[in-house]
Amino acid sequence: MAVLGVDIGGTKIAAGRVNARAEVEGFRSIPTLASRGFEVSLGQIWRAVESSLTPQVQAIGICAPGPLDVKTGVVLNPPNLPGWHNVPLAKFAKDKFGLPVVIENDCNAAGLAEALHGAGRGYSHVFYAAIGTGIGSGIVLDGKIFHGAHGAGAEAGHMCIDYRSSILCGCGTAGCIEALASGRVFDDAADEDLDELAGRLGAWLGAVISLLDPGIIVLGGGVAQMGEPLFGRLRAAAPRWTVNPYSREIPIVPAQFGAESGVIGAAAVVIGAQ
Ligand SMILES: [Zn+2]
Repeated sequence: MAVLGVDIGGTKIAAGRVNARAEVEGFRSIPTLASRGFEVSLGQIWRAVESSLTPQVQAIGICAPGPLDVKTGVVLNPPNLPGWHNVPLAKFAKDKFGLPVVIENDCNAAGLAEALHGAGRGYSHVFYAAIGTGIGSGIVLDGKIFHGAHGAGAEAGHMCIDYRSSILCGCGTAGCIEALASGRVFDDAADEDLDELAGRLGAWLGAVISLLDPGIIVLGGGVAQMGEPLFGRLRAAAPRWTVNPYSREIPIVPAQFGAESGVIGAAAVVIGAQ
């Protein structure tokens, strides 16, 4: 069985067929053309799907930027998809292609991909975060995505780590880890910048560890590509900010999947739902 995974981003839409071993075939990536509005970007999504669709495909998994409602399959009003308001994307895709369709938040899907097939394989409780121009996160507990009571949970990028901070986050509050430690702040990290970045992320991950007691922490996105200079510092910093007595045993590792993570994750959501 093959599942078509589709990853809708603000700049690119990726699609590919994913088999049960999480191998991707027919991977394609095309521009979203988001600034041209809803009709154009929706047309690009259909183009991406059609470019990878074959008769072997039995279902479609789509991940998109939040907020969205996974139960109803409706994309609400993502800031990086202008003109999208309450779009029943799962129904549109089901009607157009005649296949079962599920949708999921992009970071939740990427987290599931890492938990089931990537750097978090073998762990039932995985905390995943993509640290780039923003910070998105996904929480996998007992092998399933955690959504919260209203479907709005797992937004770890908007945990405040400094309530005195005057640095405003895109969400409107101040002191979020996204505002203090995303790629906007640390584009070209010198040693002292890395120390500061690891200090901030370490305090945040310590809080995450206290709350979730994850089996492993997997970090993707641009900042995570900084490799051992950052990860070594994070492993030293995070245990200083948590009461969890097992914190030093919790691996903090780079993500395994890059550009294909959303496609693999969207497909994993479909397979997990069956
Ligand atoms: Zn925020």
